[in-house]
Amino acid sequence: MDFELTKEQKDIQKAAREFALGEFPEKAQEFDRTETFDRGIWKKACELGFVGVFIDEAYGGAGMGFFEHCLITEEFWAVDAGMGNAVITATFGAELLRIFASEEQKKKYLPPLVEGKAVIGTAITEPDAGSDVTLATTTAVKDGNEYVINGSKMFITNGTIANYLNVFCLTDPDNPDRHRRHSFFIVETDRPGYEANKLHGKLGIRANDTAEVFFNNVRIPASNLVGRLGDGFKELMAFFNLTRLHICAMAVGIARAALEESVKHIKKRSQFGAPLASFQVNQFKIAEMATMIRAARNLYYEAAWLTDKGKMDHALTAMAKWFSGQIAVKCADHALQMHGGYGYIDEYKVQRIYRDAKIVEIYEGTKEIEKQIVAKSYLR
Ligand SMILES: Cc1cc2nc3c(=O)[nH]c(=O)nc-3n(C[C@H](O)[C@H](O)[C@H](O)COP(=O)(O)OP(=O)(O)OC[C@H]3O[C@@H](n4cnc5c(N)ncnc54)[C@H](O)[C@@H]3O)c2cc1C
Repeated sequence: MDFELTKEQKDIQKAAREFALGEFPEKAQEFDRTETFDRGIWKKACELGFVGVFIDEAYGGAGMGFFEHCLITEEFWAVDAGMGNAVITATFGAELLRIFASEEQKKKYLPPLVEGKAVIGTAITEPDAGSDVTLATTTAVKDGNEYVINGSKMFITNGTIANYLNVFCLTDPDNPDRHRRHSFFIVETDRPGYEANKLHGKLGIRANDTAEVFFNNVRIPASNLVGRLGDGFKELMAFFNLTRLHICAMAVGIARAALEESVKHIKKRSQFGAPLASFQVNQFKIAEMATMIRAARNLYYEAAWLTDKGKMDHALTAMAKWFSGQIAVKCADHALQMHGGYGYIDEYKVQRIYRDAKIVEIYEGTKEIEKQIVAKSYLR
């Protein structure tokens, strides 16, 4: 397998890094502290073509692969995870529409995401349905030419800012096969009965909106069903196989940030009459971080490369997801340790890296769930 990036891919990577370096550092600490974000930066990223590159040209995108989307994500997260996430997850859900939406739905909902006119989200998790999504109880009940949605969803990225959400609903509660009970619907958030409460006090990625959302008799046209009735679980798994690659890119990006900050710090600071970089204990940490980053990146590159070639390997994607998440957290821990007490205060970027990194082991499948997927594929 040849993972040498093409000239176009290297150019995308470079442009993404330059954009992030130009826009993020000045505001990153403020947005982390205030849990806010300047949406002008997202609009600018859309204008420059960084958002939704995987969306087909027919719907305004660049028609690139998911690999390129990951390259951009990695660069954004290598500069700042919170702001990077706020920009890059504005299309979280377009992947699902790209595969399963009708032509009419694609024409309506995809172009505004690329043009910086709309934000999307995907609402699956509920207070009592996390790792086991089949427990989701938000209902969609048919009423003439409409569906009526009732229930609530937890931890929804972009919940208070999204123009529309893909909502995972229970449509056939009595089906003996729990994998055939749910369906996806597009719900515009300006419909009566939709409510979102922003969640405050997150550990990390605080510039990115996360909300608890409520559906109180929200009526949508029956034509807002995505894909086929009862296929929601199957569609969700296909969606996750793409978006989990994206999480790997986030993990590698933040691990790189941890390494960069560490190298800078230990070369600059001296103790016992010598730079921290001269102590073997720190050198070993740098060696471990560099190696883990390389290994995680190779895993996700392979998984993304195969996916774009139509040969998606879900066990490989799951391996890449848990491994990259784990090394991100490990690298952040090493980085903070090498910063000593300075790493413990938020004047130093490494504190934010330490807090931001943890999410990659949790969302879109915890590391335990990913390991189960890997194990199952070997034990089958
Ligand atoms: C910042 C943030 C953003 C998010 N964005 C979204 C979003 O946009 N849309 C959305 O739908 N969701 C979103 N989520 C939710 C996220 O996907 C869930 O938190 C995650 O899937 C885990 O579910 P849970 O929190 O209910 O944990 P639980 O499922 O309760 O798991 C708790 C712990 O138990 C472990 N566990 C559970 N079951 C098993 C098992 N069978 N074997 C071994 N261990 C197990 C888990 O691995 C975990 O360690 C977001 C979460 C956060 C924090």
